[in-house]
Amino acid sequence: MKEAVLRLLKKNRGAFISGEDICKSLQVTRTAIWKHIQVLREEGYEIEARPRAGYQLTGIPDRIYPEEIKEGIKTRTIGRNKIFHFSTLSSTTEPAREEAQKGCEEGTLVVAEEQTGGRGRLGRVWYSPQYKGIFLSLVLKPPVNPNEASKVTMIASVALALAINKETGVAAGIKWPNDLLVHGKKVCGILADLSAELDRVNYLVLSAGINANHEPEDFPDDLKNNATSLKIETWRPVERAKLVRACLESFEHWYTLWLDQGFGTILSYWKELSVSLNCPVRIHTLNKSWDGWAEDVDEDGALLLRLPNGQLQRLVSGEVSLRIT
Ligand code: ATP
Repeated sequence: MKEAVLRLLKKNRGAFISGEDICKSLQVTRTAIWKHIQVLREEGYEIEARPRAGYQLTGIPDRIYPEEIKEGIKTRTIGRNKIFHFSTLSSTTEPAREEAQKGCEEGTLVVAEEQTGGRGRLGRVWYSPQYKGIFLSLVLKPPVNPNEASKVTMIASVALALAINKETGVAAGIKWPNDLLVHGKKVCGILADLSAELDRVNYLVLSAGINANHEPEDFPDDLKNNATSLKIETWRPVERAKLVRACLESFEHWYTLWLDQGFGTILSYWKELSVSLNCPVRIHTLNKSWDGWAEDVDEDGALLLRLPNGQLQRLVSGEVSLRIT
């Protein structure tokens, strides 16, 4: 019902709508309307109430509320049905995994305005301050062999890089395996958490953290040289809900293309957008690091590294970090 009140207010943007008209449209009492208006105000919507004129929506907060994300969304499954929103959360991955285990539909989405225990790859911390970034996890159930599932992070890298570019004009490049960089600084991290049997995927939780409206001083000192945000790059604030919607639409497009036509086109886009191919890199594993030339990635997303001795080393992303040197 609250959503219906909001929809009516939005439809009448720029004008007052009388309490009576809202009551008639939604078949509820004036007291009920008033209560919903109060809740909307608590959520940050600015609503002016004027005697005899009614209510007018005068401001929409920059929150990634499900109603804002879904407004006019063009997807069929991704973010189309259930979206769970949290003001603060340890990490979006956990509730998404719980929903997946309960058998939720593909495309179920968890978003948070803040993560207190946000994680990157290999358990590293993902810094996730409130209302600045976008933190999301998406439940997917691709009908593929588990060893194909790692492609999903590459698909997401392409999809998010292009969505960010379309929405903000920022040209983010992909750093193998799954970070987005702008001018060498990280603006987005992507990772996937897979649950599978030998021959089938149970579910996959795809998570992303996008630095949207951080100011330089919002990053801790140890990240200042390596992290950036879309706002820092463009000097303009990002409408985060709109960006989430664009990311979901873009992801659905590339994900569907993969399932329908295979990985070829996506891989060529991935290579096109890559900023860590055809350049010298340093690779770190838990107990070893070595230098080489990032020559290519193969069909499985593994990095083909040309070593100084001429040998070609194939590296899968799992335990490896890459630095562009
Ligand atoms: P890298 O190779 O850049 O160290 P990675 O790809 O192996 O990182 P990720 O899981 O993608 O690891 O990201 C985690 C790392 O990213 C952290 O160790 C930290 O250095 C950095 N980081 C954490 N939070 C943010 C953020 N909000 N924006 C940019 N970088 C971040």
